[in-house]
Amino acid sequence: MDFASYIRDIEDFPKPGVVFKDITPLLKDPKAFQKAGDALLGFTHNMQIDKVVGVDSRGFIFAPMLAQKLGAGFITVRKSGKLPYSTISESYDLEYGTGILEMHSDAIEKGDRVLVHDDVLATGGTAQAVCKLVEKLGGEVVQCNFLIELTFLNGAEKIKGYPKEVLLQY
Ligand code: 5GP
Repeated sequence: MDFASYIRDIEDFPKPGVVFKDITPLLKDPKAFQKAGDALLGFTHNMQIDKVVGVDSRGFIFAPMLAQKLGAGFITVRKSGKLPYSTISESYDLEYGTGILEMHSDAIEKGDRVLVHDDVLATGGTAQAVCKLVEKLGGEVVQCNFLIELTFLNGAEKIKGYPKEVLLQY
């Protein structure tokens, strides 16, 4: 399937000069939505996975489905202040300043094999922070997978220690 035909470029979003990859046309189409999910699942090649971590907020679209199909638990990583229980946190670089991502302190057990999923790998700061959160709790990141990688932003460099799979590269 030509997944790229379901991704829409939005110029100057969320600010001037940025071309944002909008995945909502893919989600809206039943066949493309289904096949994209199947492809992400295919990347895991029957690996044993204990937890799937989805990243706030578009990572929450496919990660729960992956967790259910893999017989794994689903873990949410959220922007700061959103999680109700005790948390661990990791800061990451934004274009101006830093952001903070949080995970519940009991989300991962020592030795858990973890799949990290998000919609887009851009500069890699987000994915790198998520991997650090997993490792702080003693988990092992066995794969990071994404719908889209913006290769010109070199995000892969930041997560080069982890196996990576992507559906579409720009
Ligand atoms: P990074 O930390 O790799 O620079 O940014 C990745 C995060 O920003 C992801 O959580 C992703 O949802 C969001 N993001 C950055 N650029 C885009 C984009 O062009 N399209 C979409 N859908 N998300 C983006």
